[in-house]
Amino acid sequence: MLLTAVTATLLSLFPAQQTDVLDDRMFAPAPFKVDGLTGVGIDINTVEAKVVFDLESQTASVVADMTFRMTGEGGMPIFDLRQDITSAKLNGKKMKPEEMAPHKFGKTAGTMRIIEKELKPEKEHHLHLEYSLAKPQSPSAIEIGWGEGTLDWDFFFSDLNHGRYMEMWFPANLIYDRFGFEFDLEIKGATEEHEIVTNGTVTTVADTHWQLSFPEHYTAFSHMLVIIPSKEVERTSATITLPGKKEVDVDVCRRLNASVTNERVHELVEQHMNDFTNSMGEWPHGDRCTVFVWTGGRSMEYDGATTTSMGALSHELHHSWYGRGVKPRHQNDGWYDEAWTVYAADGFRGNEKTVSTEARKSTLCPTHLPWNRITPSKSYSTGALAFGRIAHAIGEEKLLNLMSLFFDKYKLRTASTQDMEAFLFEATKDPAVKQVFHRYIYGREGSWTDAAESKRD
Ligand SMILES: [Zn+2]
Repeated sequence: MLLTAVTATLLSLFPAQQTDVLDDRMFAPAPFKVDGLTGVGIDINTVEAKVVFDLESQTASVVADMTFRMTGEGGMPIFDLRQDITSAKLNGKKMKPEEMAPHKFGKTAGTMRIIEKELKPEKEHHLHLEYSLAKPQSPSAIEIGWGEGTLDWDFFFSDLNHGRYMEMWFPANLIYDRFGFEFDLEIKGATEEHEIVTNGTVTTVADTHWQLSFPEHYTAFSHMLVIIPSKEVERTSATITLPGKKEVDVDVCRRLNASVTNERVHELVEQHMNDFTNSMGEWPHGDRCTVFVWTGGRSMEYDGATTTSMGALSHELHHSWYGRGVKPRHQNDGWYDEAWTVYAADGFRGNEKTVSTEARKSTLCPTHLPWNRITPSKSYSTGALAFGRIAHAIGEEKLLNLMSLFFDKYKLRTASTQDMEAFLFEATKDPAVKQVFHRYIYGREGSWTDAAESKRD
């Protein structure tokens, strides 16, 4: 519990920093009533987990500890974990796993667990869990890849389904919450060498035993981890110097069946990172960038990292500025990182006619669904066009400049749709900005001024 002690000390020494560093309590959605229970949002301080993979028996055992505080007036805590819990203790007292069962939070939210114990907001609480790691009970999750003396495991996050972040494997919260994660990982019975590819800091304890540490500003969708037999990949690293003399070590791990050379991957990564540093601002993820290349259609962004096909490389890297640099505060804000990345990195800007003609309204930020955990697929199309409409109104250069200032203001923090709307409007005072958000992001008819009027009544 070293981290917890350090955190507590930091909080008491620097209370003024609390809001910025760790305290996300104000961002939790309002309490949720379901199945006769009222669940209350939490703010996780730390998660510590130890996993031992036994390749012979093809089992993985987990011991996980989570410290957290209650939001609001306290009550029954809400968290998520898509594994079957076998043993649990809350604040040192044994509880039955059924007393922290998953409940349905809505079609686009999936399930969250509610711990059936009223907790007070004043103190830090401690949840201890033990379970066997298996295929997560989340839509489109994948199996752990057990081989003969080998392991193939990918955190495999996705924002296109609910329950597809950290909660697949370890206790976690919705994405408004930043927390530190300390992770001890051991493979027993390995007959091959393995690569551990991650955006965490790795300490090697033994050949197949590592300790991983992830920063406190990470949220449930930040952590990248791939474990793979070394013989299936080629791994290289190179230091690049970005504008502003920023040096970054680029770690490229490529599946051998991806038909590209590591050299070419390094070349493209450097090119894209140069471009995005120039357009959006300084690389925000310290002196490392981790790139795992595979074939196929699915790619994913993480903080300063990606698991990607070559076709999606620039898109996923751009997310390290928008999406995992500035992070959506709730999944309802997840539209903007896709929309802006499609606009800015993929160059999808719509033609003059498309961005200047009124189209059907679209709801990319469903504010009536605060527990939503799915990014609407229209974010990529209608969302990018919404930025095209704003650019049409205020000028493309101005928009690029403002989005880079927004990045600078919110990097490594969370930002809401409303934060972005207010920022763009304050800087331009252009009513067209408000109208674009009103019609194409919030999905409302009529004029934004009518909505503003009725809000004041
Ligand atoms: Zn994307």
